[in-house]
Amino acid sequence: MYLGSVRFFKHLIYIILSSLVLVLAWGTYSLGMFVASTVANRVQSEVVGVRAAQLPMEVTNNAISQRVESLADAAVPRIFPLDYQLKHKELYSSILGDFVAPERTVYLTFDDGPSQRTLEILDILSEYQIKATFFVITENADPRILQAIAAGGHTIGIHTHSHRYREIYRSVEDFLDDFEQAYRVIRSVTGVAPQIFRFPGGSINAYNRGIYQELIGEMLRRGFLYYDWNISTMDTDPTVSARQMVEIVTGSAQGRNKLILLAHDSQTRRDTVQALPEIIRYFRAAGYKFERLSNSVEPIVFAYPLM
Ligand code: ZN
Repeated sequence: MYLGSVRFFKHLIYIILSSLVLVLAWGTYSLGMFVASTVANRVQSEVVGVRAAQLPMEVTNNAISQRVESLADAAVPRIFPLDYQLKHKELYSSILGDFVAPERTVYLTFDDGPSQRTLEILDILSEYQIKATFFVITENADPRILQAIAAGGHTIGIHTHSHRYREIYRSVEDFLDDFEQAYRVIRSVTGVAPQIFRFPGGSINAYNRGIYQELIGEMLRRGFLYYDWNISTMDTDPTVSARQMVEIVTGSAQGRNKLILLAHDSQTRRDTVQALPEIIRYFRAAGYKFERLSNSVEPIVFAYPLM
């Protein structure tokens, strides 16, 4: 007899155990699905809630679903200004955009002044009736000399307040802090807001390697044009004499149409002052005219190095 036999009860136990396993498996699956759908619903309703919160109050419930869809499609970018973009609110200039393109022009530029040499340089420029550009250091600057530069009709551009490379190139913020101090000094002393500048060490140097792209981007965003140079007196080298400066400059001009000439205005550079008249006469004879820089002159800037 199968019914009531040991085999019968064995099979009965198998059937009951198998059913229990199936019931447990189904239960676990259902619970999982329930939890997943609840979480998904909550996330969805939060997203819809956030989007709905951005809509104007008068938008009706009917319109909301359409707006939610269109907002999702548009993928509206969110704007997060950087800290330094929110600071220095006065520090804006405007770039004209239409650059003048004069023929055969030399732009004499003097960095690091004012100094005890500035008045000598101004005398020479006045003698030859030439306008030039002074990128000045404002910390400890003699206001009377800054005024004399401006009164002579020359351009005053910002070089720096402190000229301490390690500090100003520590970050974009540090550069802007220094720049604003120089900007304020020049504006208050001369009554003219500077519009152009020259980076200490040039726009790309050993001190700003990690930040120069961001820094240049920020300065241009603020409307300040910067000018590097394409010809130099090499007068930061104390072994270069006045005679050698003339030779270096005249030998490297190479008939180029537009020259932005780097020289320095500092007490120790007497040779620069001595070389100046001959440099001026050389370019005059070669058919060049002399102009001061302004933001209507297209800058000459260093190329970014290849990585
Ligand atoms: Zn300098």
